[in-house]
Amino acid sequence: MVINLKQLYELTGEKSEINTEISPERLKEIHGYSFIGPVTLKGVIRNRAGVVTLNYTADLRISAECDRCLGLLERDYSFEFEHVLVRSLYGDDNDEYVVTEGDDLDMDELAVTDVLLQMPTKLLCKEDCKGLCPKCGADLNVSDCGCERQQL
Ligand SMILES: [Zn+2]
Ligand SMILES: [Zn+2]
Repeated sequence: MVINLKQLYELTGEKSEINTEISPERLKEIHGYSFIGPVTLKGVIRNRAGVVTLNYTADLRISAECDRCLGLLERDYSFEFEHVLVRSLYGDDNDEYVVTEGDDLDMDELAVTDVLLQMPTKLLCKEDCKGLCPKCGADLNVSDCGCERQQL
């Protein structure tokens, strides 16, 4: 979804609610994660004293393999983001600032970037997952296979 910011940039006090989803086509471009259902985006863009800020929350659910035992897991995430939107940026580049294409904000693109930066690279089904036996491949969370293992 592309949001036109013309009014928001020009009118102090202007406010616009965001209630959208990242389009499924964009989600498919995110490799390494399987999303279950939509990624919903809710928030608000405000012009306060000429400064345009975007605050939003991204809610999503993914399925993935546990890094240790390869068991399937599903997990919900809710991330909050805040950005200052500007048409152009002079001086210091800063993660907080988002430079829009003219008056248009590509909300999908921004949200995909934001979400990817927050996603964990390693996922465990539980904090103390015992993983698989390196000898026989048994899931040690389920039972101790009895293989001799070196204690690390
Ligand atoms: Zn596990
Ligand atoms: Zn074993």
